Amino acid sequence: MKNILLSLVLLSSSLSFAGWEYDILNKRLLKNFIQRETCTICCEKITSKLTLSCKHSFCEECILEWFERNSSCPICRCDQAVFYNVELLKSNNLDFQKKAVGTLLILMSDNQVVKNEIRRAGAIPIILGLLKSHDNTMRASSAAAISRLAFCNSKNKKFIIASGAIAEIINLLESEHELTVANATGALLRLCGSSLKNQNPDYKCDLNYQLLSLLASKNHRIKINVVLAMEILERYKVTNEQMLRKVGAIKILLHILESKDFEVRERSAMSLRKIALNSRENQNEMVTIINLNEDLKDKIQYKYPDLYNTLFNE
Ligand SMILES: [Zn+2]
Ligand SMILES: [Zn+2]
Repeated sequence: MKNILLSLVLLSSSLSFAGWEYDILNKRLLKNFIQRETCTICCEKITSKLTLSCKHSFCEECILEWFERNSSCPICRCDQAVFYNVELLKSNNLDFQKKAVGTLLILMSDNQVVKNEIRRAGAIPIILGLLKSHDNTMRASSAAAISRLAFCNSKNKKFIIASGAIAEIINLLESEHELTVANATGALLRLCGSSLKNQNPDYKCDLNYQLLSLLASKNHRIKINVVLAMEILERYKVTNEQMLRKVGAIKILLHILESKDFEVRERSAMSLRKIALNSRENQNEMVTIINLNEDLKDKIQYKYPDLYNTLFNE
């Protein structure tokens, strides 16, 4: 490319009869040549080229060093935080990858634009690969990233499911690392649903068995995620329609309302309300259980008015 450009420049300058139009051509070609091949950071010819999403190019080494202190393009100043962190993900260096997934989790928060940008930058297949990492924290944060990328974002969700993520997530349910299991159950409930309907009965049976065994977990977050995943599977008729009532899931969530952890209590109340709103049968079951316990009923009326109104006033 460099040689072709040079020859063109030389050729056009040799056309002495050409007049001003060729001067302009000359300048343009030279400008392109300089822009493409010179790194504005080191002012040298670009060695190993890295092009940002804004199409500005630099030496890989120069721009990665620049990104250690800045998150924008040195030329146009547009934000390149996602681009940089996805580059770190591609690095094959576990420490860089951990840092990158952590930063991407913060960057995406609940911002769908950033989540789409992360998908377009090619991060999802890499994060899915990291679900198999030998490092517990890496697996746990990758599961959290998958869960967040899929949340309220149908394009990401489709892409993640099509990449075979559910099987990887289900594998993580057997982990002995609590945070990994908690995040994996969180990711599962974002991904499971109609996509599992056509799976073979053995597969569904295995998944059911795994979820059931996780209901015995001491971790309330895991329990809530599992119940919510079961609710989705029940609603999409992937599993038995009376699943929640059969396994006593409603009692489990009502019990969690007594937890010392505020966030967990709130989450449990929200989940109960969601379950009641999605199924009349489950709602009736909930009302029956609560009516048998006056203290619990008072507590719900006082502390969780939304749940109470859904159950008793609507
Ligand atoms: Zn450079
Ligand atoms: Zn730029």
